[in-house]
Amino acid sequence: MGDDCLFCRIAAGEIPATIVHQDDDVVAFEDINPQAPHHVIIIPRRHIATINDLEPGDEALFGKLATTAARLAAERGFDGAGYRLVVNCNAAAGQAVFHVHMHLLAGRSLGWPPG
Ligand code: AMP
Ligand code: ZN
Repeated sequence: MGDDCLFCRIAAGEIPATIVHQDDDVVAFEDINPQAPHHVIIIPRRHIATINDLEPGDEALFGKLATTAARLAAERGFDGAGYRLVVNCNAAAGQAVFHVHMHLLAGRSLGWPPG
């Protein structure tokens, strides 16, 4: 993938983003349109369009999105106060970028149920 995928291009360094973590598997960067005081997007480097497209063997990779998000939340001091992790899938959830990503939202009170 790559040329036509915004998040692949961010992971490749072709489109600028405020990267807050990267390793061989995942990249995390600040959301360009934050919905909370802290809004970080965590993606796998590998292109996977939606959570529907995860395959057997991807459990550790998807888990690493969560462990990376939790570590970033803790580094920012929200492990005790709380935060939210969100994965939107397809139209009903408003998925806009078709490269699997986890949202980390923190720094304000988050209503439930979400909109
Ligand atoms: P979703 O609706 O779950 O697909 O969320 C996509 C997210 O990507 C939104 O929160 C956008 O604000 C964010 N986003 C879109 N373009 C960029 C970008 N160039 N850099 C950082 N975040 C982005
Ligand atoms: Zn991609």
